[in-house]
Amino acid sequence: MDGRLKPALKRQMIFLGASFAAGLLLTYFFGFFIGLALNMVIFIGAMLYIRWRQIKALKSLGFSDTVMGGGYTNEGVKIKYVCLSCGAEVKGSTCGKCGSNMKKPLF
Ligand SMILES: [Zn+2]
Repeated sequence: MDGRLKPALKRQMIFLGASFAAGLLLTYFFGFFIGLALNMVIFIGAMLYIRWRQIKALKSLGFSDTVMGGGYTNEGVKIKYVCLSCGAEVKGSTCGKCGSNMKKPLF
C-alpha cells in the first residue's frame, strides 16, 4: 500500500500530519499561555481582591468604629450643660433658673 502512494502525496500526508501536529502543538501552547495568562490574571485578581477586601475591612472597621463612637456620643450620651451663673443644669438654650444663656458642657 505504501509503495502505491506517490511521493508527492506521501509528502502531502507528512505535511498534513506535521501541520496537524504543529497545530496541536500551537493549540497546546496557545491554550497553555492563555491558561497561564488567565491563571496569572485570576491569581493577581484574587490577590488584589484579598488585599482590597482586607483594606476595605480595615477601613469599614475604622469607619464603623468612628460611626459607632459618633453615634454613641450623639445618641448614647447626652451632653449636659451647666449654667455658668448659678450652676444649675441647663436643658434648653437658656438657664431655667436665672435665664442666663452662658452655659458650659458637662462631660
Ligand atoms: Zn442659671
